[in-house]
Amino acid sequence: MIVPGEVWLVGAGPGDPYLLTRKAERLLQAATVVFYDALVGPGVLALIPTDVRLIPVGKRSGRHSKDQKTIDALIVDAALAGESVVRLKGGDPAIFARASEEIEACRAAGVRVRICPGITAASAAAADLGLSLTLRGLARRLTFVTAHTKKGQTVALDWEALADPQATLAVYMGQAAAGEVAAGLIGAGLSPATPVALVENASLPDGGHFLTRLDLLPLAARTALGDGPALILIGEALGGGRANVSAVEAELHAGEVE
Ligand code: SAH
Repeated sequence: MIVPGEVWLVGAGPGDPYLLTRKAERLLQAATVVFYDALVGPGVLALIPTDVRLIPVGKRSGRHSKDQKTIDALIVDAALAGESVVRLKGGDPAIFARASEEIEACRAAGVRVRICPGITAASAAAADLGLSLTLRGLARRLTFVTAHTKKGQTVALDWEALADPQATLAVYMGQAAAGEVAAGLIGAGLSPATPVALVENASLPDGGHFLTRLDLLPLAARTALGDGPALILIGEALGGGRANVSAVEAELHAGEVE
């Protein structure tokens, strides 16, 4: 399945090994070396045969173990040495996962690189919450955004563009910047009562979620979360759209009475 000398960027999904694709599992079995991130769940790593070399290159905020250039060089060198390389990333490799640097490094070295998608955190979080990220007529847009910043910098996001009452926002790496996210969106006109869900360790047995509203997001992000990866979801869809649905219904009924 993997040709020696080739690199596959493989999505490990949100953590639950049953959410790994069958293709990803096959690639992990066919690899000779796997470079994996800190967010890859232990249940997924346990599926990798013991004769495959497993190399952690994980990054978690504030605890960078290898910088991106080092990781690029490691995977390229392994491929050039004739290994069948899997670069295993949490969630989907094409979403906030620095895939483009690795793809470019491979191509620049003449190494063939391919991608196996994975289930991204937003999909896993919606599944844990038991709700839909889009709602017909009410949440027509789904935006994936990262609020990650370098230490000491502020979040440079276009709040006017993001403060859309008909959108659902999935904020990756947003816990530290939750205050800025809430202030930015409210400042740009989004209602302080907009429903918010915080989902930690989505898909995993120790996962949990907390439902709140936009003006209380900063407090919730400080107090309701542990140290697992967490996603912030913002928008009417997180309230099941109930507030708006009843407003729409009230209008309809008012029309009937007249
Ligand atoms: N490529 C990944 C995202 C990597 S960025 C994906 O597609 O999911 C890392 C961020 O993803 C974390 O800070 C967190 O916001 C989110 N994340 C990853 N796994 C998660 C999980 N199991 N539960 C909740 N959020 C998660």
